[in-house]
Amino acid sequence: MHIKAAVVAARSAPFVIETLQLAEPRADELIVRVVASGMCQTDLHGRDGYYAVTSYPAVFGHEGAGVVHAVGAAVRDFAPGDHVVMSYPWCGECASCRRRRLNYCLNARNLKNKGTRADGSTLLDRNGAPVYGAFFQQSSFGTFALTLARYAVKVRCDAPLDLIGPLACSGQTGAGAVLNVLRPQVGDSFAVFGAGAVGLSALMAAKVAGCTPLVAVDVHDHRLALARELGATHTINANVYGDVAAAIRDFTEGGVHYAVDTSAVPKALREAIESLTPGGTCVLLGSARAGIEASFEMPFLQQGRTVRGVVQGDSVPREFIPQLVDLMLAGKFPIERMIKFYDLADINVAARESSDGAAIKPVLRMPH
Ligand SMILES: [Zn+2]
Ligand SMILES: [Zn+2]
Repeated sequence: MHIKAAVVAARSAPFVIETLQLAEPRADELIVRVVASGMCQTDLHGRDGYYAVTSYPAVFGHEGAGVVHAVGAAVRDFAPGDHVVMSYPWCGECASCRRRRLNYCLNARNLKNKGTRADGSTLLDRNGAPVYGAFFQQSSFGTFALTLARYAVKVRCDAPLDLIGPLACSGQTGAGAVLNVLRPQVGDSFAVFGAGAVGLSALMAAKVAGCTPLVAVDVHDHRLALARELGATHTINANVYGDVAAAIRDFTEGGVHYAVDTSAVPKALREAIESLTPGGTCVLLGSARAGIEASFEMPFLQQGRTVRGVVQGDSVPREFIPQLVDLMLAGKFPIERMIKFYDLADINVAARESSDGAAIKPVLRMPH
């Protein structure tokens, strides 16, 4: 079938809307009519060639939400008309997948970034010439997307499809780190470093869990203002404060129980670690480029502190995304507050405003 999609012709080239041919679904695949798709930094990393395995021309996008349009012959759990979000891919066969740690799939890199199905076949072509889609096995920056049925998550039909795409990546990354990994008790203290889409999702989840105080650290005042509206009790502009960790230790009886770094900036990660109380835990959610090192004083760990990384919030999407939708519809996870909408045709504006911080979570609406 013909689709419209945002194509990147070569490394760092702009997005160009083109008409492409999308493959028919195989037995275990389905096609989604994309209503809207969030844009993550990861899409721009793909555009800019940070992933060695990426080929061009390519179509990105991995936070797609929409309506099932067609299903393969063997798909039993979805039917045309179902409302779905598409989440991250996993192989199902490696040592991590066999232990149900799908978000640490050993084959994730190729499945996310290579631009083909696992068997190397392409999903898209332009007049017979291959176009590399299958970004996160979905490429949602287009009017239709093809994915394996097992990566689709059915959602309540009263969930607004133009808002819920970001739950597939940034939403579950931030909220999952808190609700699935840290699992704070009511009254535990919490700090988030970086008040972007992932950080604000973590903040909203920490509020749901009953954490207090709730601290947000960022370098943009407008993001800190939104963090306050979403529940932060204290906000710190890291460009203004000299020693952020000391400030946090001051008003939290010696440090927070939980800290989350979404910036992947070594200085911020160190501050997040140094803001922990003895026995506290810091998780890194930001994706740092290869070769970046961070440091902290070893005695910090001796006081029972934990530092670890988390991918996709340790979420099993079919369990966690419907929970986030429920929270959202109950008014407890107001993701709409961080979203800015763009038409697909304005995708380059969305990318620019995502990079310069003007938009916290761009969401592209697809033309139909
Ligand atoms: Zn795997
Ligand atoms: Zn993402």
